[in-house]
Amino acid sequence: MKTIELIVPCYNEEKCIELFYNAVREVFAKLPDFDFIITYVDDGSRDNTLNEMKRTAAAAVEGTVQYIALSRNFGKESAIYAGLSKSTGDYVALMDADLQHPPKLLVQMIDAIEKEGYDRATARRVSRKGEPLIRSAFSKAFYSVINHVTVLDLISGSTDYCLMKRTVVDSIVSMPERERFTKGIYSWVGFKNKWIEYENVERAAGHTKWSFLGLLRYAYNGFIAFATTPLRGVVYLGIVITIVSFWYAVSIGIAAVRNPLAPRTGYNSIMIVLLFLGGVIITTLGVIGEYLARIYMEVKNRPIYIERETNVETEKDKPQKQSD
Ligand code: UDP
Ligand code: MG
Repeated sequence: MKTIELIVPCYNEEKCIELFYNAVREVFAKLPDFDFIITYVDDGSRDNTLNEMKRTAAAAVEGTVQYIALSRNFGKESAIYAGLSKSTGDYVALMDADLQHPPKLLVQMIDAIEKEGYDRATARRVSRKGEPLIRSAFSKAFYSVINHVTVLDLISGSTDYCLMKRTVVDSIVSMPERERFTKGIYSWVGFKNKWIEYENVERAAGHTKWSFLGLLRYAYNGFIAFATTPLRGVVYLGIVITIVSFWYAVSIGIAAVRNPLAPRTGYNSIMIVLLFLGGVIITTLGVIGEYLARIYMEVKNRPIYIERETNVETEKDKPQKQSD
């Protein structure tokens, strides 16, 4: 009998906790060879989410519903990390609480791992039904850029919904970075992945936590977390400006030799060059600053999440959780 552990990050999802549990129970009723454990991670919700988790845990079969409550809202990625680092299941799935990740796909995912020899199966939305056009367009642009400039191979429409073997979980947990761009981390650790396609589903209840601006920030941080191309770009820019300035100096020299008596009022050209170089220097410093800020945050070595309470019994002492 294998155990499948479902890790569910929840932020203000009071209406979804029980719905999610019921939907999962229904799917596993048809999978007699597998046990399930749901590990809800309460990411500092401000509504009744934690109480709902406790209520569902008390009503469920002993040991099938666990919860980990974080001390504040750390973000989905940290909540996932909390769940993964405490997980014990033979296979681990990551799922949203709002049932946008249909539990019935687990059947195909289990087959991919058990019968077809994959290490991991990931859900991929084939339609972006119900999503604003501009959001789809930005997302497409993001994937094409990040795939060109990093070692990552991200696929448009890929979700965080996946089922993985223990080895994959351990390798993800072993990546200690605080800026956790989950999609990038999954791709970076490698392993054999099968894509399971599905149609976009609307939320069961509650509201999305993502604004358009929030998504842009997510994409930007993900890009900086995996791409060092902007830093290399700075070097190329410097080389190009140096070559252009040499070329300009030579052309001034030639003009002076050819026409020694022409009056020389260089105010305009000096201003242009000065402003141009000023702009280039400030932009360059900004690019370096972006990376410096991330180095600063990483060297602080703060824990990725802080736990307030939990009913998870297997206490594995993770080095990340020791405060310094
Ligand atoms: N979530 C979280 N912490 C946050 C924001 C979101 O744990 O700070 C959870 C949320 O409860 C849900 C999942 O992440 O289970 C996906 O969020 P949402 O449904 O709002 O995103 P969308 O599906 O609209 O992209
Ligand atoms: Mg959702």
